[in-house]
Order: sequence, then structure tokens, then C-alpha cells
Amino acid sequence: MSLTLHIDADQWRGRVRRYVQDATAAGVTVVPVAKGNGYGFGNAVLAAEAARLGVTTLAVGTYDEVAAATGEFGGDVLVLTPWRPWLTAALGDDRLVHTVSRLEDLRQLAAAPARPRVVVEVLTSIRRHGIDPGDLADVAKLLDDVRFEGFALHLPLGDDHAAEATTLARRAFEAVPAAARTIWVSHLTAAQAATVGQATSAEVRLRVATALWLGDRSGLTPKATVLDLHRVRRGETYGYRQRRARRDGTVVVVAGGTAHGIALQAPTAAGTLRQRASALARGGLEAGGRALSPFRVAGKQRWFAEPPHMQCSMIWLPDGVEPPSVGDEAGVEVRYTTTTFDALAWD
Ligand SMILES: *Cc1c(COP(=O)(O)O)cnc(C)c1O
Repeated sequence: MSLTLHIDADQWRGRVRRYVQDATAAGVTVVPVAKGNGYGFGNAVLAAEAARLGVTTLAVGTYDEVAAATGEFGGDVLVLTPWRPWLTAALGDDRLVHTVSRLEDLRQLAAAPARPRVVVEVLTSIRRHGIDPGDLADVAKLLDDVRFEGFALHLPLGDDHAAEATTLARRAFEAVPAAARTIWVSHLTAAQAATVGQATSAEVRLRVATALWLGDRSGLTPKATVLDLHRVRRGETYGYRQRRARRDGTVVVVAGGTAHGIALQAPTAAGTLRQRASALARGGLEAGGRALSPFRVAGKQRWFAEPPHMQCSMIWLPDGVEPPSVGDEAGVEVRYTTTTFDALAWD
């Protein structure tokens, strides 16, 4: 009973490897990111893939994710969530590179006996974490007592923010001239990152997940096992909610429910009315009490018979459509950052 991600192993691994090689050829060091649900693969799998790639550093999202990464990856681990004073236990691990985003935290790390390895995050237009560029002179005074490994810049998605990265990196290197000329950027293409490196004479490390792991989804095929089928006559009831069938059809029970993240919607970032309408059409359209499911049966996206259960979903198949058989696999459209698969199949 599985929601399975089928992976064309040669194609996927080949493309991931080419991404790293192309970036390297452009003078940019790739730092793969494994965090959250592991972009559908799981973090341990991504850490193992990073090890295969031979990269020196892997980034994880939080301190809680370090253990899964270090089980599979022997190199350095950058933690993207900034260090905070209660995380003293992490300071003993010499493989960890800590992200520091407040002067008070940097002071505390500078006072720690271990001389922790740190990357100093500079506040960008995202305004999530980071030391204000105006306070960088204070950073300079504290760097002797840590192992400084560069500045981090977390840039907005979308347009080319290489100019912002270049401006901030220059400010940082001016304020801290003695510092290692390394910048850790996010959300730039390898080519954009390369221009920042050239403009600032810095080594650029590109922290990247989506474009690396999910940059080409043609070799990724999510599938849901058909678990059961029930013929339902018009007027009969079915499901947790005992909905009454309005016509004859078949309830198809497929693997994949709320626990897998099926049919969960993140708040949409869609700006325009048209974008919002298309977001609705993809996953959440309620029409006559029905919602379009992400499952494809007999070549077409089908309606939920009722809202998804914990680990399976009930799909409505109208009469006239050839039903699948138990054990068949149905196609399913997923959002990779919210889906947890039961299994990966490396085909
Ligand atoms: C998650 C994260 C990334 C990876 O983001 P993608 O858009 O998936 O490449 C990069 N940098 C930081 C700081 C992150 O938190």
C-alpha cells in the first residue's frame, strides 16, 4: 500500500551531476540543501546523494536535521537556521558550520571555548534573518575568536538579485577587509552566482535545493497503488460522511492521504486573479461539494468521492470509464515540498 515516487535513476542522477559540474565550471561551488520533507526524497536520501556527488558541504535547515544528514554524509554541514543561544550542545561538533544572524549571538559564539565555525548572515531585502549591513563594523571586531567562513546572503525568489548580492557582498568585505572572501548565496542561478563572484573577487557557494533536486521533473513519476474498488448505485451511501451517490459509479480507493500531504494546499502566493483561478483548478476546486483530486485514473484527473483520509483517498469514477484493477498504480500530481512518499523506486 504505497504512495511511491518512481525515479529514473540514470536520468535524475545524471542531471543533478551536470548541474554541479556546470556550476563548478562557472567557478561556483554547489552546496546542496537537504531540509524539511527532503523535497519528496527525504533528507537521508538527499544526504546520501550529496555524498555521491562528492561535494564538500551539505546544508540542512535546522539543528534537528543534522543527525539525519551526518548519518549519510561525511563532509561539513552548514545549518541554515541561524544559531541561537540555547543551542550550546551543537558547538562541540566540528563538522558544523553555524549561521549567525545577530551581533549578540556572534558575541556569545566568540566567547565559546571551541572557536566555532561561523558564516555571518547579512540582512537582505527578504528581511528574515541577518545582521544589518550598517552593523558590519562590529562584526569585524569579533571574528578573531571564531572560525569565520564567509558571509551569507539569502535573496528573494524571482528576478535576478545578483546586483543586490554584489552590493551587499562589497559592503561586507569593505567593513571586514581581513575576512575570508567567501559568500554563500541562495536563489541565484549558477550563472548569476558566477557574476557575483567575478564582481566581488569572492569565492561563491550556491546553496540550492529546488533547482538541483527538482530542476527537471520529467524523470520523477509519483504513483498511487489502487487498493480497492466498490461499485455504487445511485442513491447508495458511502464514505466517512455517508454521502449519497447521485449516479452509478465506482469508488476507487487509492494509497495517499493527508499523512502524505495529499491535497494539502499551502497559502497561495498567487498575485493575480488568473493565477488564483489556476491554483484553484489544480487542487482545491469545490464544485457541488466535490473537490478535484490530484489522482489520474484512466487518463484523467478524477474527483474525490470525499475528502482524503489519513493514508488513502476515495476517488469517484463515473460509469462508462473502465475501472483500474487492485494493484494497479494511478498517476498522482504532488507538491514535492509537502509530500512524504511511502517508498522511492529507483527504476
Ligand atoms: C531552503 C533554503 C535554500 C534552498 O532553497 P531552494 O529555493 O529550494 O533552492 C537556500 N538557502 C536558504 C537560506 C534556505 O533556507
